Amino acid sequence: MNLEKSKQIYEEGIKYIPGGVNSPVRAFKSVNSSPVFISKGYKSKIQDEDGNAYIDYIGSWGPAILGHSNEELMEGIEDIIRDGLSFGLPTKIEVDMAKLMVESYPAIDMVRMVNSGTEATMSAIRVARGYTNKNKIIKFEGCYHGHSDSLLVKSGSGTITYGVPTSLGVPEEIVRNTLVCRYNDLHDIKKTFEEHGSDIAAIIVEPVAGNMGLVAATPEFLKELREITKEYNSVLIFDEVITGFRIAYGGASEVYAIEPDMACFGKIIGGGFPVGAYGGKKEIMEMVSPLGGVYQAGTLSGNPLAMHIGYKNIKLLQRDKSIYDYMEKMAIKLEKGISENIEKLGINATIVRFKNMLTLFFGKGPFNNYDDVQKCDTELYAKYFREMLNRGIMLPPAQFECMFLSAEHTEEDLEYTIKSNYESLKAIK
Ligand code: PMP
Repeated sequence: MNLEKSKQIYEEGIKYIPGGVNSPVRAFKSVNSSPVFISKGYKSKIQDEDGNAYIDYIGSWGPAILGHSNEELMEGIEDIIRDGLSFGLPTKIEVDMAKLMVESYPAIDMVRMVNSGTEATMSAIRVARGYTNKNKIIKFEGCYHGHSDSLLVKSGSGTITYGVPTSLGVPEEIVRNTLVCRYNDLHDIKKTFEEHGSDIAAIIVEPVAGNMGLVAATPEFLKELREITKEYNSVLIFDEVITGFRIAYGGASEVYAIEPDMACFGKIIGGGFPVGAYGGKKEIMEMVSPLGGVYQAGTLSGNPLAMHIGYKNIKLLQRDKSIYDYMEKMAIKLEKGISENIEKLGINATIVRFKNMLTLFFGKGPFNNYDDVQKCDTELYAKYFREMLNRGIMLPPAQFECMFLSAEHTEEDLEYTIKSNYESLKAIK
């Protein structure tokens, strides 16, 4: 595969951008490769600067749930642009968007739009602290909630991949109020509440963790989080930045039938634009300025163009919920094919799936928490990634991430992927 142009752009990029990229995982460092620079995407495929095509299982890390360059989504975009890009004053589409989100996600009565998932979780934590008048928060090891200081502790995603789960530059005084528990561990959470319960403002959790590879919460675990936060008057925050409108239209809250007090969104709700949102029960959200004393603002928050595309992305999902059945059917097929390949070749690997998300772990399960996934062979994943890339398949460039299916992945895509998976596993054995 010729990657000459990508290499040239990268050489230029590293002079001006740290690592040549604007988000660490994109550097392909942990898979010992140089990054591929993408020029365009259509449906389930993307193309790089050298003209190589790939079946895309990143999907912009989630937003491209309807595939790339979805024609219906793009329709009318020029008219929106012509009317002006940003006013810093309210627009009707922001109210339409908020209403749609509140109707779609029963746990929230009000919602605020921001520009990223990071802003959403950071703001939700501030509101929860303001509402409860307590200081401490609980997060789980291996869960990633963006890169705000108080959440960058024993984190997931690129922070595990690059060995900085707790970032430099985050003062000790700030993280002192972040308590870290083990994912899926009921005992740990009970013990932490016994010790610190009177000062715990919130629990923030990825109800299906996608940032240590794919690790779903057990229903008992989420149920316990719901009960214990009620008992101690703490706020339960579901970080649905990945799972919202993905694993079901109503996110993890719908799948597990549990209503959090607050929820955070991103990715899909922007349809590819930089958008995040946090919402919650009315009395909690009324803490937000100008109604209450918790300050949070944004020059480009609710940007009209981003809102139009995000709104439409959600509307298209709402119109045809059979998309979710289709994506799950495709994911099951992929899971089965890969699982059979693993068995045939006797490889020490496990394919894990939840709805339309998957991770191929190079190790033996079960994978219930950060310690479990840490045992995986990341070198082997790197080799596998490169083999798949050479065959025109774009996987997450790190072991501790997920593959995302879209509504545009075809049977043919999957057959080719399963065949390539067999060849790649055989090659690295
Ligand atoms: N929460 C979760 C669960 C995420 O996966 C991410 C990003 N991958 C974030 C928050 C942060 O979102 P953003 O990158 O848009 O800041």
